[in-house]
Amino acid sequence: SCDELPQYLERHYLLPHGQAQLLTEICLRQRQLLPAAEKQVGIYIGIPFCPTRCSYCSFPSGIVPLEEELQQKFLNFIEQDMLTVVQLLSMYSLNVTAVYIGGGTPTSLSETAFARLIALTARHLLLPGVREFTVEAGRPDCFSAEKLKVMEACGVNRISVNPQTLHDKTLKAIGRSHTVQDFYRSYDLVRHSGIKTVNTDLIIGLPGETADDVRASLDGIRALAPDNLTVHTLTLKKSAPIFGAQFSSLTAEDAEALVAYGGETAAAMGMLPYYLYRQHYMLGNLANIGYAASGSASLYNIQMMEERHVVLGIGPASATKVPQADGHHLKKLNMPKDIGTYTGNLPQLAHKRSLLFADEEE
Ligand code: SF4
Repeated sequence: SCDELPQYLERHYLLPHGQAQLLTEICLRQRQLLPAAEKQVGIYIGIPFCPTRCSYCSFPSGIVPLEEELQQKFLNFIEQDMLTVVQLLSMYSLNVTAVYIGGGTPTSLSETAFARLIALTARHLLLPGVREFTVEAGRPDCFSAEKLKVMEACGVNRISVNPQTLHDKTLKAIGRSHTVQDFYRSYDLVRHSGIKTVNTDLIIGLPGETADDVRASLDGIRALAPDNLTVHTLTLKKSAPIFGAQFSSLTAEDAEALVAYGGETAAAMGMLPYYLYRQHYMLGNLANIGYAASGSASLYNIQMMEERHVVLGIGPASATKVPQADGHHLKKLNMPKDIGTYTGNLPQLAHKRSLLFADEEE
């Protein structure tokens, strides 16, 4: 039973008391927001480009090509991929709840290419029943009022503007070509737009940051009062440029105290935790936790992390996940991270993706 669950997690999975409570609380909240029995599909579109590469980055993203023609060619493949997903939706009568454009940084595309990406998504995938349309506008160095207008006009209702830290010295150290002031400007633009839900991400453990630096960033975010806050703990995978370096001056105890401070900050803004996930190589072996004010939790994040709902991935490095009817198995297809391999094999990859569903029916 729900009352016994935390104790069970402590005894059988050796979870500390606080984490067992948190996990139970999140699980119950998710079931209210998105019952597992409802066959609601999430769609992810991955745009693997960024304006510069952050030193801690382990995402398969490259620097955005400046030539408009190359961006448009890439979008031709994304549209092809979208159309095969539309076929799947209709063939298997799947209802889409949430659409998420991430990456990389989708806003690193030119004004024209970005407008085309958003319009294509709206035309092909914003089907009746979609409740959430999120765009990652993580990097303020490639955000603009024009891009925001396009998003507003095409029905985007959730946006992520991610400072990661509110310290210029750290932004410089991690290779981001924007300042804290640029973040504030972008945040202000979004806040004054018609887009209802704004998420901000922070990372605990960035190179050179002290515990006081992280607390100051959390306090700064609290003053802005976004709708969602995601508190990450630095993860350095092998593909990160600074993997293996002595990257963080924080101890595991510092990190744990800061994760708790993140929770207190979110609570002070009236938010509740609604999803969490862990990765290998995380500082202090902690978790990333998403918080949301009432009525603003991201359904896509729940679908993607909990693996109880179908998620269809479009674009390089995207993942398609098809939970099986027994509730304990998952069929999965990862699109290649390399753009050339993705574009050169798209028809075969789309066919493999459709087989995940065909098997399910057998
Ligand atoms: S913005 Fe994100 S995806 Fe892009 S380089 Fe930085 S960490 Fe990687």
